[in-house]
Amino acid sequence: MVGLVQGEGGVAAIDKGYAKYVEEVYPAAADGTMLEGSRLRVEIMPANGRCNQCGTVFPLVEHEGECPQCKSGDCDMLSGREFYIKEIVCY
Ligand SMILES: [Zn+2]
Repeated sequence: MVGLVQGEGGVAAIDKGYAKYVEEVYPAAADGTMLEGSRLRVEIMPANGRCNQCGTVFPLVEHEGECPQCKSGDCDMLSGREFYIKEIVCY
């Protein structure tokens, strides 16, 4: 089993079906490689941002990049760009 972590701010249009889709197409990509027959599990990491006006930390995607406190769109992404292999487990 291969565990992959993908930040929700890392790809342009990530949605609820993303992880399931990638897991479904994975066997075709792994076919003919040393990972043939393994499973892929994708974890989506939430994107958090900090408002540069008032300092509020909030989930960026849920609030569509707008600070829920002061409604400013001036914010930095703190997390959510992750894309790495978390684990490779052999049974
Ligand atoms: Zn704010």
